[in-house]
Amino acid sequence: MDSARTVSIVDEVLTQRRWWVEQWPDGAPYVACLVAQDVQEALLEHVGRWPLCVLSHEDDDVPHELRVAPDLGPDPHWVCEEEGCVVAPVGALDR
Ligand SMILES: [Zn+2]
Repeated sequence: MDSARTVSIVDEVLTQRRWWVEQWPDGAPYVACLVAQDVQEALLEHVGRWPLCVLSHEDDDVPHELRVAPDLGPDPHWVCEEEGCVVAPVGALDR
């Protein structure tokens, strides 16, 4: 996903959230969580599903994306909703 398009989407999200955290410094612990969700939403709109689940499932015809959990909290993780399990901390996926 390391295309010019993707990089500019991530840049835009970071710029907006940098502004946001200046307005609300108490929100700093949540910013990783929010950035992950913003990037996921923006990519879904412009590029496609990201990040795809890296687990192998029984009936895996349709690839699905991971979700950020919690919705708003410190120390966010990527979660597979089908298995209901944590896959990796946000920032630790290698693709
Ligand atoms: Zn999965």
